[in-house]
Amino acid sequence: MSVLPIHFHPDAVLRKKCETVTEITTDILTLLDDMVETMYDEDGIGLAAPQVNVPKRLIVVDVEQREKGEPGTPIKLINPEVIMKSDNLTVLDEGCLSLPDMRVEVARPDSVTVRYMGINGATQEIHATDLLAKCLQHEIDHLNGVLIFDYLSPLKRNIVLRRYQKNMRHAGDM
Ligand SMILES: [Zn+2]
Repeated sequence: MSVLPIHFHPDAVLRKKCETVTEITTDILTLLDDMVETMYDEDGIGLAAPQVNVPKRLIVVDVEQREKGEPGTPIKLINPEVIMKSDNLTVLDEGCLSLPDMRVEVARPDSVTVRYMGINGATQEIHATDLLAKCLQHEIDHLNGVLIFDYLSPLKRNIVLRRYQKNMRHAGDM
């Protein structure tokens, strides 16, 4: 397994509508393993394939890592989609590995049911609440080219993006 480089906003790959995976090849399985390793290496709780420059509908998540401080059981999801969501929205302060140092308060349903294909090719469903529900929605957003600051009003988005661009320029200086 290897750690893959993360791509940052404004890389165009992050804005693509990702392709559906039609066949589970060894390349796809290796990519999913590498995504898990990359997620742990970055201390993330989720990662989507476009973040490592692959515009395909693949995500990995492990929220136990955050809750327990050590890797739990990673879930690898192929072609995930939200098939049910709660009416009740809650706000979470979210970050993103492709947006270093940016935090955005995002209101999302607090529970969802996600259908996906597992690595064995079988269709599966997860009913998720709390942090896992938020994480799954955040990662599925990536597959549709959606980033957390898209949820902000134009005014707030400008402020957050100006700060981000300034930080990224400084990071580039070092
Ligand atoms: Zn993200």
